[in-house]
Amino acid sequence: MRRISILGATGSIGASTLDLIDRAGGAEAFDVVALTGNSNVAKLAETAIRLRADVAVTADAARLDDLRSALGNSGVEAAAGPEALVEAASRPADWIMSAIVGAAGLAPTLAAARQGTALALANKESLVCAGQLVLDACEGAGTQLLPADSEHSAIFQCLCGERQKEVERVILTASGGPFRDRSRTEMESVTPEQAVAHPNWDMGQGISIDSATMFNKALELVEAKYLFDLEPGQLEVIVHRQSIVHSMVGFADGSLIAQLGPPDMRGAIGYALNFPARVDLPVERLDFAKLAQLDFEAPDPDRFPSLRIAQEVLRKGGRAGTVMNAAKEAAMAGFLNKQIGFLDMADLVDRALDALPCEGEPGALDEVLALDADTRTRVAAWIEGRD
Ligand code: NAD
Ligand code: MG
Repeated sequence: MRRISILGATGSIGASTLDLIDRAGGAEAFDVVALTGNSNVAKLAETAIRLRADVAVTADAARLDDLRSALGNSGVEAAAGPEALVEAASRPADWIMSAIVGAAGLAPTLAAARQGTALALANKESLVCAGQLVLDACEGAGTQLLPADSEHSAIFQCLCGERQKEVERVILTASGGPFRDRSRTEMESVTPEQAVAHPNWDMGQGISIDSATMFNKALELVEAKYLFDLEPGQLEVIVHRQSIVHSMVGFADGSLIAQLGPPDMRGAIGYALNFPARVDLPVERLDFAKLAQLDFEAPDPDRFPSLRIAQEVLRKGGRAGTVMNAAKEAAMAGFLNKQIGFLDMADLVDRALDALPCEGEPGALDEVLALDADTRTRVAAWIEGRD
């Protein structure tokens, strides 16, 4: 039986992954090694018991007793805290889903990358913060990196059977998020509740707000650079409001290959779970007569400065990715607490990229974590008005 682990099993990507695992036979078909979560220990325990996992881990050390009592005498081991997450990600498994949100996913993802098996990557932040370290870990161990972000799964699928040196450009599609038709003035006063309501995709809170600012696409540009070894000038973004074309690859002869599907993450996750096979997945089949049209438009740099920031990060390298992501996460916390406005988030990221050392690639995980922490401290101080 295939041994699998899911890091971030209680989130949105975790739920889509578990749906596919359950449909494929659950505990009868898979040997579930580790499942991790954060505050929702009841859900984590219920899933771990149902799938007969070896271990359930909550990132929150203070919740260990809650997790233990929720697991009762099921025989599932309980663990808690950041080190326990890394230990769980290091337990031998054949396929590991990395779906923790944010830079918190970096250390467990790196541990999983060192296993030499298959790593399905939804946690784009680990490539943004430490792309070269993750790639080196995969290469050193012989780990197959399988993109689980819809755009990167699309690019990966478009590249199957193609030669990398003939790739001319990669075009990431973006839905444009809930504010794609709002003016800059209107965007100044939008609330967290409005920002989290994505028109096409049902996702976790962090990525939904990232879609509203288009920082999600900024992260994805950096993610694509590392995954597919691209130069900044080869990467483009186009707003495509229907989220049907998941991305496209253009080749030396002017030909383009696109991957299409409904906006359902089980498509990309299912591809990574079954790679290189394609199996029947529970996703809607596209009806082109009903769709009638697919729209494309250039993103507006005035309303979405995140895309300009991404170009700066692509030019500067890995440390700038760490700073962009940490500043963005800290600024998002300020927005969610209603301490700053929606457009202030990009301003704070710009300010952090000016204030912190950003050139070149970080040498080790500790360096990334220190730069991440410094950036958060600075941005939090700016939000509190202490600096
Ligand atoms: P989510 O918020 O729904 O779930 C996040 C998971 O991470 C949960 O299991 C939560 O318990 C865990 N978690 C939260 N804080 C943690 C911490 N400090 N330490 C350890 N674990 C923690 O998020 P999501 O939407 O499932 O997104 C997960 C990742 O996948 C993100 O990197 C996101 O960008 C990426 N992604 C998501 C989607 C989507 O459709 N949701 C699509 C593409 C990529
Ligand atoms: Mg995506």
